[in-house]
Amino acid sequence: MSNSPLFTSQPSRPPTNHHGFHVLPDKLALLLDKCRNLNQILQIHAVILRHGHENSSILNFKLQKSYSSLGHLDHSFTLFKRTSNPDVFLYTSIINAHSSRGLKFQAFELFVHMLIQGVEPNAFTFSSLLKSCLIKDGILLHSQVTKLGLDENLFVRTGLLDVYAKGCDVESARQLFDTMLDRSLVASTAMLTCYVKHGCLDDARLLFDGLEEKDVVCWNVMIDGYTQYGKPNDALMLFEQMLKAKLKPNEITVLSVLSSCGLLGALELGKWVHSYIVNNKIRLNVHLGTALVDMYAKCGSLEDARLVFDGITRKDIVIWNSMIVGYAMHGFSEEAFHLFDELCKMGLHPTDITFIGVLNACAHAGLVSEGKKFFGLMKNQYNLKPKVEHYGCMVNLLGRAGHLEEAYELIKGMDVEPDSVLWGTLLSACYLHNKFSLGEEIGMFLIDKNLASDGTYVLLSNMYAKEGNWDNVAKTRAIMKKKGIQKEPGCSSIEINNKVHEFIAGDRNHPKTKTIYKKLEEMNRLLKDHGYSPQTETVLRDVEEKKKEQCLGVHSERLAIAFGLISTSPGCTIKIVKNLRVCTDCHTVTKLISKITGRRIVVRDRNRFHHFEDGVCSCGDYW
Ligand code: ZN
Ligand code: ZN
Repeated sequence: MSNSPLFTSQPSRPPTNHHGFHVLPDKLALLLDKCRNLNQILQIHAVILRHGHENSSILNFKLQKSYSSLGHLDHSFTLFKRTSNPDVFLYTSIINAHSSRGLKFQAFELFVHMLIQGVEPNAFTFSSLLKSCLIKDGILLHSQVTKLGLDENLFVRTGLLDVYAKGCDVESARQLFDTMLDRSLVASTAMLTCYVKHGCLDDARLLFDGLEEKDVVCWNVMIDGYTQYGKPNDALMLFEQMLKAKLKPNEITVLSVLSSCGLLGALELGKWVHSYIVNNKIRLNVHLGTALVDMYAKCGSLEDARLVFDGITRKDIVIWNSMIVGYAMHGFSEEAFHLFDELCKMGLHPTDITFIGVLNACAHAGLVSEGKKFFGLMKNQYNLKPKVEHYGCMVNLLGRAGHLEEAYELIKGMDVEPDSVLWGTLLSACYLHNKFSLGEEIGMFLIDKNLASDGTYVLLSNMYAKEGNWDNVAKTRAIMKKKGIQKEPGCSSIEINNKVHEFIAGDRNHPKTKTIYKKLEEMNRLLKDHGYSPQTETVLRDVEEKKKEQCLGVHSERLAIAFGLISTSPGCTIKIVKNLRVCTDCHTVTKLISKITGRRIVVRDRNRFHHFEDGVCSCGDYW
């Protein structure tokens, strides 16, 4: 509308006479309220014209409103243009129609025109404008509103608060909110959203808990906040409270909860949510389908992920990507490649995520030449510029396969800046393949360039320990102590009866600690009977041999496995989620436990899934 000659072509007509309505206009006004489609409005519009009521401001207002509320902004706007001397109601209604559709420039243009015409805006004009405006316009409107004495109006205030909240201006939003006499639920929700966006989760929770009435939107904002900021346990606890408060979760709730289940590996709860979707007839669209595929894959149930995937009829690239990434995570490279071929055959274009999926599939199976093929395909056929994550997959693939020099060359030739994660990948490959001199060179280079992360020092120190270079271990440890660097504590979780139990290394806080440690001792005896001896080389020298064994023995996943063994019936699969990579010793032990107890044990570590069964792991000891 910006370049339309609308305001100049306005026909000049005498002002509308409001008085002396016949019965007819009133009836027409009532009929307009009941219109359900364009045809009905057009018919009434024709009657209005035929009876000469085109100057009735009430009928014009209702017509204009009916057109826009049924989605025919063009008709509504044409009518507005034809109206002579529109009043504040007509202006506000047309501004609102534009603003609600996000057409903020048009809305402001109309507002300016209104001021030029000398029509004074009211509170509703401002609250309409605020719906679509950005923070800088919001500040301008705020001062206008104050001048006109409308700043105490609840709708205006809520609108302003919403603008500040969307612009992440927590302080201004908080000031408005704190001085509000009557806080509507809309205002509280806007404030809550504002807190959550900046990650002020504690402020948000305080406000949330203080709200007398909470609708599903409030609950969603809070639950999603916890999910986004990596607090899946809090998200799930709140979800439980939401159900207890008899509120009905909607699609948005379900999306957050599924994402949290995936993070925690909470399969039972995830399944419950799935059946909730089915039982409550929430439409299983492609977004929900993707969330379910993602959750099932992360919770270790690829079969369920595939079932959901196959059931979605109109698949977009995002759901294909989720399924491919899922297969890759579990080391099912053939299936990932197969899906890649299929989606290309269907005419879909792989995205950079698709390539992360297939490259990871290559890395987890040690398929170097396939990896190189996909890397080339991505650049040459699909014109996708590799990001640092793609280089990460390649360095991981080459590094694990022992092609360390090639991986190093690849990093040096990159046209994007390598990050500490990428260097860490190469460094751990050096550690794995005992390439200590290259590892040390890289480590020193990173320290020199101030790129060393906590992980760099930990890897260096582990590398020296493996090499038996105790002087350098001591030196590295001294630097670490000075810098306050600690190894990230290992943490494993297991879901039993819909509840997620977390264990950190050496944990003694669980209510069943005694039984857990008794089970651990029993397992250790059995392990020794099966010829197991602990690999203590990576544990530092100043710890005596006996203690080293104890350190390894209480790695968090062992506590979780022991708890799993005592809490589930024989034959049940045990599923563990771990925050770090599984160490070689625990990997060996888990294989043996699967053989001794006849249990399937599924472990998701930082990189991938391990399915342990009858003494063998699905990763083929390649992880
Ligand atoms: Zn371990
Ligand atoms: Zn494994």
